[in-house]
Amino acid sequence: MIHPFDLQARAELAAQGLTGLRDAGRQGLMYFLANWRTRPPRADHCLWDCGDGSGRHLDALTLVRSIVRPGSSAAMPDEGERELEAWMMRLLGKDGLTWLIDEPFAHPWGVEMLLESYDPKDTFAEINWAQRGTLLGLTSRFQATGEERFLHAGQRLVDGLLAVAVKHPDGLFYPEGYYRGSGWRRQQPGLYPGIEEYNAAVLVPAIRFYRASDYAPALELAEGLARFALRHSRGYLPDGSLYPGEGAGKGQGTLDHFHTRTNFLLGVLDLGLETGRRELISWARQSYERAKTWGTDFGWFPEGMGHRHGETCCTTDLIEAALLLGRHVDRAYFADAERFGRNHLIETQYLSLSRLEAALSRLPEDNSPTPREGRYSTTAGVTASQVGAFAARSTLNDAFHLDVTAMMQCCNAAGARALYDLWRYATDEQALHLRFSIETPALRVVSHEPARGQLDLTSRRTGPLAVRLPGGVAYAVVVGGGQVHSLEARGGYAHLEVHAGEQLSLHYALPERSAHYEVGTPGKVLACTGHWRGETLMSIDPQGEFYPLYNRAADPPPVEPALPLGIPIASLDRG
Ligand SMILES: [Zn+2]
Repeated sequence: MIHPFDLQARAELAAQGLTGLRDAGRQGLMYFLANWRTRPPRADHCLWDCGDGSGRHLDALTLVRSIVRPGSSAAMPDEGERELEAWMMRLLGKDGLTWLIDEPFAHPWGVEMLLESYDPKDTFAEINWAQRGTLLGLTSRFQATGEERFLHAGQRLVDGLLAVAVKHPDGLFYPEGYYRGSGWRRQQPGLYPGIEEYNAAVLVPAIRFYRASDYAPALELAEGLARFALRHSRGYLPDGSLYPGEGAGKGQGTLDHFHTRTNFLLGVLDLGLETGRRELISWARQSYERAKTWGTDFGWFPEGMGHRHGETCCTTDLIEAALLLGRHVDRAYFADAERFGRNHLIETQYLSLSRLEAALSRLPEDNSPTPREGRYSTTAGVTASQVGAFAARSTLNDAFHLDVTAMMQCCNAAGARALYDLWRYATDEQALHLRFSIETPALRVVSHEPARGQLDLTSRRTGPLAVRLPGGVAYAVVVGGGQVHSLEARGGYAHLEVHAGEQLSLHYALPERSAHYEVGTPGKVLACTGHWRGETLMSIDPQGEFYPLYNRAADPPPVEPALPLGIPIASLDRG
C-alpha cells in the first residue's frame, strides 16, 4: 500500500496510469475519455487522443520518471510511452501543426460554436489544446533528452502557429477553434464569447519552449497571443473578477471553462516573469486571487464556473501559478501550493484497484448505447488501467459526482505534472517552502506531517536555511547537535543555520481548525465542513457516497525519500 504523502511512490504509479489505456489495434493510440458508469467501464476514442492527450502525456511521463526512486520500474520509458511518443510525432504535419486524424471519432467537437461553417471533408488542426499539449510534450522531451528532433519539431510548430495567426494591430489571434487544410473561413475576432483566451492556450508551452530553446519566435508568439487576448477578452468584470458569461444556452461560449481561464492567467504570469513586465505579473496575480474564489483553499476547483464537480487540470494550473508567485513575487503564495498539493491533488489520485472498483459498483449504471456501435471503444481492463490516475471530476468530498462522471485523461497528465512540480519546487538552495519528504543533492527532508509537526533535515551544505511553517504558526524548536533552542518565525519562515552533514529536527505546532465550504449554484449546492490539522485537510463532513475522500490516518509514519537518479527538469521557470 502506498503511503499517502509519498510523492515518489505516487509518481511511479502515475506513470503506470498514463500508459495503461491504449488501443493495440491502433498502434497504441490512447483512449482520452471513459464512461465510468457502464458495466464494465468503457473507454472511447475521441479527438483529444490526438495532440492534446499524446503531448500532455509525454510531458507528464518525462517529468514523473525523473523523480521516482532509484531502481524503480518507472524510471525508464516503456512500450506504452514509445507508442504515445510515436503518435505525438506522427500527428505533426502541414505547417508544422498537429492535425486530427481522418477517423469518425476524431472529427471536430463543437462545430456550431467553434467553426464558421463546417465541411467534414476538410482536414482540421485543433488550434488550442492540441497545439498546447504537443508543444508541452516536445519541450519537456527536448529538456530531458537534448534530442534535436524535438527541438526542430517544436520550432516548426511555433513557426506554423505564427504563420497561421491573424495579424492585428492588437496582437495575434486565431479566429476559429480549428485551423483547416483549406485555411480560415473568417479573419475577424469574436466568433464566440471566450475565444480569445481559449485560443491562446498555447501561451504556456510557448514560453516554456522559448526558455528551453532560446527560440525567439516562441516568445513572439506568446507576446502576440497574450496581447490580443488581454485587450479583447470579455471574461473580466471592471473590478477584475472572472466573468463566467450569462450561463448555459445564453452565449457564454467557453468563458465559463475554468481550465481555459486558469491556463491563461498562468501563461500571462509566466510571460510577465520571463520578460520582466510587471503589469502582466500584476494582472495575473489579481486574476489568480479572483480565480481562487471559485474553488476551495484545499485545492478543489470546478470544471466550469458554478459547477459542483471539479477538474484536476485547474488544480494543477493554480498550483503552478502559486509556485511561480511564491518563487518570484511573495513567499506567502507557497502556502497555497502546499494546501492545494497535499490535499485535493494527491487525495484524488487512485491508489488502489479494489477501492476504485468498490466506488464504481456504487455508481448508478448507464445503459445508453455505445457511440458508433462500439467500433472505437473498449471495455477491456479500463478500471485497472486507471490505478495511478487522477479523479478527473471530483467534488469536495468524493472522487465522483453524478453531475458529470466521465473520465478525462487530460487530468491524469495534469495531476502527474503537479506531483513533479511539488517535488521539484519544494526547496531551493536557501529555503524549504513545501513540507513534503523530499531529497535533493543539497538537502534531505523527512516530514512527519500530519502525524506531528516535525521535519528531520540533513543538509549537505553549510549556510542559512529558511523553513516555511504552517500558516499562523509563530514558533519552532530546533533539536540538533545536543542543543535545543526556539526560533521565532519571520514572514512565515523559521530561519536556521545548517552545517554540511549535520542532522537536526524542527518541531512546530499543527493547529487544528474547521472550515465550512459551499460550491455550486442555487438549487445545485454542495456544502461540507472540513477539519484541518496544520495545512492538511484530515476529514470532511458529510462523507461522499461513492469514493469518499479525506479519511486520513491520524498517525502515519514519516516517508523516507530517496535521491532520484533523473536529471532535474525546469518544468516551470529558469530556476
Ligand atoms: Zn482535465
